Amino acid sequence: MNIQTPAPAPTQAFPPMAPERVARFAAAVPGPVPEDGFPLDAIEALERSGLLTAPLPVDQGGCGLGLVPGTMRELLDTLRAAGRIDLAVGRLYEGHCNALQLIHHFGTPEQWTAAAHDAAAGHMFAVWNTQGGRGVDLSDRDGRPVLDGEKTFCSGAGDITRPLITVSAAGQQPRMCLIRAEELPMGFDLTAWKPLGMVASSSGAIRIDDMTIEPADLIGQPGDYHLQPWFSGGAVRFAAVHLGGAEALLDEVVEHLTSRGRDGDPYQVARVGTMAVAVESGRAWLARAAEAADAVFGHGDPAPDAAAEAVHVANMTRTAIERICLDVLEDAVRGIGVAGLLKPHPLERRGGDLTTYLRQPAPDATLAAVGKHVLATRGQRSSGAGA
Ligand SMILES: Cc1cc2nc3c(=O)[nH]c(=O)nc-3n(C[C@H](O)[C@H](O)[C@H](O)COP(=O)(O)OP(=O)(O)OC[C@H]3O[C@@H](n4cnc5c(N)ncnc54)[C@H](O)[C@@H]3O)c2cc1C
Repeated sequence: MNIQTPAPAPTQAFPPMAPERVARFAAAVPGPVPEDGFPLDAIEALERSGLLTAPLPVDQGGCGLGLVPGTMRELLDTLRAAGRIDLAVGRLYEGHCNALQLIHHFGTPEQWTAAAHDAAAGHMFAVWNTQGGRGVDLSDRDGRPVLDGEKTFCSGAGDITRPLITVSAAGQQPRMCLIRAEELPMGFDLTAWKPLGMVASSSGAIRIDDMTIEPADLIGQPGDYHLQPWFSGGAVRFAAVHLGGAEALLDEVVEHLTSRGRDGDPYQVARVGTMAVAVESGRAWLARAAEAADAVFGHGDPAPDAAAEAVHVANMTRTAIERICLDVLEDAVRGIGVAGLLKPHPLERRGGDLTTYLRQPAPDATLAAVGKHVLATRGQRSSGAGA
């Protein structure tokens, strides 16, 4: 990444809107990025197109995506567009948006000001929560916090300069900690990252050895990271990126059938219709999820009913979009055939990326939570057992 002093304030009255930034990015990165490591060129294009700063409030040069009430639809559309271009870049950008949302909500004004300054200077953020056996321990030495341990599945390991990691003090809930990678270098290991897809997300392991940090690097309080509705409600972001991948698969089937003169076959026409219905229903889920999320995200203390609804709708949206993506993937493979499973056909790459990225934590528990919520709120819902 090209880390610089923030550019002077824009001369125009309002910074560019998110769709304009997306269009600039799509022009710079029209399709999937190379698979050989972290997609540095694409991340620099995210910066140049103004997408790294898009989550910042308008007066800080952004669009307030996900931070300001009423912006969730635009955030999800932006993430969907990023996923449609490339799922690994979409995943990395989702982590950036997530981290900025968390710092804005749980951090102090000073911590937010520093984070916004860093985003404007070209730093990319991430959230690294997943861990294998141990995790990262937080202890105290002479009044200063010390970190020691490891994390797994860290997207952008070795390249992300502002990871927000979860760390745990003995007997306490996890707490967030923002690392400034140039000052606090971590070890990273990508040797075990040999996945079916999402290679370019560089989701390796990191290792922190007895690293002293500043108290101001700790964001929020123990337990904040898992607070609802922010924790489960945030799943709509990755669902949006996933759906972008399904949209790209539909594009690829249409391109394949038309270029091979196979687009007049009634079975193939019907298959394209089925895929289009699936993708469109995914968009409807995202619109519904954005509506529910707008009632809580960007609000300091959301109403309990609105918070419960946002989590419920996010759980349903995530579940529905996973099914939609799996169905679209199956139709894409059937429609194109084995040619689509051979490099360099775009389906081979996109299908592997989507298959891998669809694996998100606790899908069974998520569906069970939907069922429990419906049973617990029976009689309170006007329109059946759904949303
Ligand atoms: C490309 C990619 C990038 C990633 N990047 C990041 C990142 O930057 N930061 C980060 O923090 N994480 C990251 N992750 C990790 C991710 O957030 C999930 O932790 C991971 O994908 C979980 O997938 P899983 O299928 O193993 O989930 P699991 O939750 O282990 O689910 C696997 C199966 O087990 C079931 N199951 C779950 N819990 C139980 C239980 N207790 N008992 C019985 N069954 C259970 C589930 O329902 C499911 O059927 C990334 C993952 C991928 C694939």
